Amino acid sequence: MSDSRALAIEYLKQQRTLGGNSVILSDSRTVGLSDGNEAPSPAAPEPAPAAPSDRPTVKQSDALPPAGVSFDPPTADLFATDPIQRAGSLTEVAQLIAACRKCGLCDTRTNTVPGEGLATARLVAVGEGPGRTEDETGRPFVGRAGELLTKILAAIDLPREQVFICNIVKCRPPENRQPQFDEIAACLPYLYRQIELVNPKVILAMGSTAAQSLLNTKQSLGALRNHVHRFRGIPLVVTYHPAALLRNPNWKRPTWDDVRIAARLLEG
Ligand code: URA
Ligand code: SF4
Repeated sequence: MSDSRALAIEYLKQQRTLGGNSVILSDSRTVGLSDGNEAPSPAAPEPAPAAPSDRPTVKQSDALPPAGVSFDPPTADLFATDPIQRAGSLTEVAQLIAACRKCGLCDTRTNTVPGEGLATARLVAVGEGPGRTEDETGRPFVGRAGELLTKILAAIDLPREQVFICNIVKCRPPENRQPQFDEIAACLPYLYRQIELVNPKVILAMGSTAAQSLLNTKQSLGALRNHVHRFRGIPLVVTYHPAALLRNPNWKRPTWDDVRIAARLLEG
């Protein structure tokens, strides 16, 4: 099948899954059916959520949220000389991370935490950065927040082992501070390559650092939730970070709503 036919079929499937009236192409242009709505650029104000009456045939509880930010960072190309882009497997990416000294976090880490899970996972879950237990073990989400993440995934019938779980930065920021912009920028190429290799059906961005970094936006978590975003065409759902849920149990209910959106996208 020609590339363009495969692409067209993929977009029509997207269209059916999202139940919307537009498809977002990889260069962020939108092909609308009638109303000429443009896809929002990352800097554009958030579009008003579609009113339920837009889609009378779909019960509101079943309707997926409207389309959000779409971000297409450059993909690796065959002739690239950058070792990250040339890494042919998740293991190779992890080896590069283990030797990485691209930002200051390398000075204080005990272990790098590249991420773990199924290389062919349908869901990639992305957090902020390793905490103490993760730094000690080299494994992502193994502390208290990790236990909660495992439960959240189980709630949508996804055993942890079937997901690829990772973080924006692969080394622990001292005292669990937020990673800085330069650290995120230095580390993101690893995540981009991991996502490219896994090629998941859905990405779950947990917390504002993950969401803002992956979507290249400064919009707040509250504004980003409840929309189906796109990362290189892959549906991306934003939710609260499990560590935030431990502090604020009121966010459990909206988190459940978010992961159900992810689950419906996985089914579609
Ligand atoms: N918080 C994160 O963001 N990542 C982990 O791996 C653990 C806690
Ligand atoms: Fe390298 Fe990322 Fe660790 Fe910084 S955080 S040293 S960029 S692996």
